Amino acid sequence: MKVEVIGSGNAFTSRVNASVIIDDTLLVDCGPTVPARLFGKGVFPGDILLTHPHGDHVLGLPVYLLKVGIDNLIHGRDTRIRLWGSERTLRVVEDLYRTTYDWGNLRDWVELYPVLSGKAGHFKIGRLEVTYERRRHTAFTDTYVFRIGNLGYATDVSETPEDYPFYRGLNVLIHEFGPPSDHTPLKTVVEMALRAGVDRLYLIHYPDGTDPEVLRPYLHLFDEMGLLREGDVIHT
Ligand SMILES: [Zn+2]
Repeated sequence: MKVEVIGSGNAFTSRVNASVIIDDTLLVDCGPTVPARLFGKGVFPGDILLTHPHGDHVLGLPVYLLKVGIDNLIHGRDTRIRLWGSERTLRVVEDLYRTTYDWGNLRDWVELYPVLSGKAGHFKIGRLEVTYERRRHTAFTDTYVFRIGNLGYATDVSETPEDYPFYRGLNVLIHEFGPPSDHTPLKTVVEMALRAGVDRLYLIHYPDGTDPEVLRPYLHLFDEMGLLREGDVIHT
């Protein structure tokens, strides 16, 4: 699989909000700074997987969906967008669109798939097999972590080393790190990835000003490890 980094930032960052595109078709999360990157690249992914309903992961959707809908009208196209997430997240997206734009009936070109529910499960997006587990993010919001083929993806999640079994045997893990309680400390991400036997570990959704030197003590533990940046491409 090809994984292209659209953004690696958190909510309060000068970088683009954390988001990746898998195999040029599946976008994961769409924060407010993501659509400008997609429009600049001329890329319009048809499937969008949403980890949780916080603003830095969904606030780009109204303008992205509006653009696709209007392009359909102008160019006589029938491009469909499929949104995959929890029922709560999809409701937030619908409310956001209705609140911010009054053009068109979203359901005419957008399909909603409330596939994330319960503690764990799996589903398919096209030919991609997606397995998920629910995790705590903040006191009020849960998030979901994913295995998509041999890629693991986890953002905005508070994990402990005991959460490692979900990531067992992964080729590549893309994981956030940040201040404890609502996020996972870097040391915990490393311990979890090591116990899971992950080959390559990449960090996303990390704070501005993170010194790459913080990785130095751990670099020898993985085939590859690094802080992701916009435009990075990883092959799993
Ligand atoms: Zn976030």
